[in-house]
Amino acid sequence: MPAAQMATPFDHDVVVVGAGPAGAAAAARLGRRGRSVLVLESEPFPRFHVGESLLPLGDAVFRELGCRDRLAAAGFVQKHGAQLISPDGAHRVLFDFAESRHVDPPWTFQVHRAEFDALMLEHAVACGAVAAVGRARDYAIDGDGVTLTYDGADGVAHSVRARAVIDASGRAGFVARRQGVRIADRELQKAAVYAHFRGVATDPGRRAGDTRIVALPRLGWMWFIPLKHGQTSVGAVFDLADYQQHAKGDPAALFAAAVATSPAAADLLRGAERLGGFRVESGFSYRAERYCGDRWLLAGDAGSFLDPVFSTGVLMALRGGLEAADAADAAFVRGGARRAAVLRRFDERLHRRYRFVRRFVTGFYDPHTRDIFFAPRPLLGMTKAVTTVLAGGFDLGWLDRSRLRLFFLIGRMQKRYDLVPRLAGAEPQVAVGGS
Ligand SMILES: Cc1cc2nc3c(=O)[nH]c(=O)nc-3n(C[C@H](O)[C@H](O)[C@H](O)COP(=O)(O)OP(=O)(O)OC[C@H]3O[C@@H](n4cnc5c(N)ncnc54)[C@H](O)[C@@H]3O)c2cc1C
Repeated sequence: MPAAQMATPFDHDVVVVGAGPAGAAAAARLGRRGRSVLVLESEPFPRFHVGESLLPLGDAVFRELGCRDRLAAAGFVQKHGAQLISPDGAHRVLFDFAESRHVDPPWTFQVHRAEFDALMLEHAVACGAVAAVGRARDYAIDGDGVTLTYDGADGVAHSVRARAVIDASGRAGFVARRQGVRIADRELQKAAVYAHFRGVATDPGRRAGDTRIVALPRLGWMWFIPLKHGQTSVGAVFDLADYQQHAKGDPAALFAAAVATSPAAADLLRGAERLGGFRVESGFSYRAERYCGDRWLLAGDAGSFLDPVFSTGVLMALRGGLEAADAADAAFVRGGARRAAVLRRFDERLHRRYRFVRRFVTGFYDPHTRDIFFAPRPLLGMTKAVTTVLAGGFDLGWLDRSRLRLFFLIGRMQKRYDLVPRLAGAEPQVAVGGS
């Protein structure tokens, strides 16, 4: 790189691409540290986003960032647990966050993401970050920094120079794709069809805000996430191959066919009114071969994303945002001899977390392990350990890790021996238009 370019002054310490949970958390963290940070977001906020159910251990992140009171004042629905419901509604298993001693407080929020993301971005700005509407187009890394070009809201091309870039651009993967590090998770290729409804049946009292997961035939499932203003987010998740074979460009028909296979889902939706059209997401599980490199780091969905069955995405994005900010600060802003070690630790942590959560997700899609998720309880303290994970506890002590090993072992044994009842109603296929 020519010496003239290396001498170009920095506009910011760090530029963050994307202002979803990962980007807002990274920007707020750096702002609170007194670093100069620009967060670029291509969509003017508020904007719609899927992913409305949070996990209680996200509370620690909100406290660390100092935005918990701001969120508490927004009047979001409180979520105290998650329920798994069999297709016919005969089995219902409750994971109540109050059962885990590691989860304090034992509840969290169900959020309209347009509002939540806007609040988080406002908070990042209050912490000192500069926010701009602009679509990142390209970047070039040189000896001591990165120059990023973007199209501003004014339609004019801009460029900004920083010591490092954090890619928090979600599934777009602005840096991840250019670095060629994204690896699709072939085992978890799914599609989701979803919409908001009004008038979905809810449970009384403290249970009114629970996420309800209704299992469907062929290992599909539906989510019911209660939101404020009497709205509920409802979605159905299928194998991508089933979706491609049956949807024929008609997500509404596939959604209706899914509901038709589950009396439990049909009951919840009886008399409900859909607000707006269906939306579709597909092919949504992948990881990164590497989560960082010279002058770049990946946070949240930009790095990896796992099937949403356990609502882990936003918490992983928030944590990833904090960790990317810390690593960018230590490695590229403060710099120094520890750079390689800082980046290695960041990379290892993200690989480890992906593997840990993935084991749960693939367990849900394994018919035998899924039977154990639905098992009558208590099973040797395993429920508490599973509840901790479902609350966002991805770093467990040895006792809970042992309980989880037992949980998965019993899942493997269920294949041969009927240790717990088989999940009733999971046999027939989803069929659309008689196919
Ligand atoms: C069907 C489905 C259901 C889900 N349900 C849940 C759930 O219930 N709970 C949960 O926790 N998670 C859920 N998730 C996951 C959740 O949506 C994501 O994990 C989470 O939004 C990731 O946050 P992020 O900040 O990494 O990315 P995002 O929230 O996607 O934010 C990325 C931002 O980057 C911006 N951007 C993109 N490209 C550029 C660019 N070139 N320049 C500037 N800006 C750019 C985008 O506009 C966007 O605002 C679900 C996901 C799917 C697919």
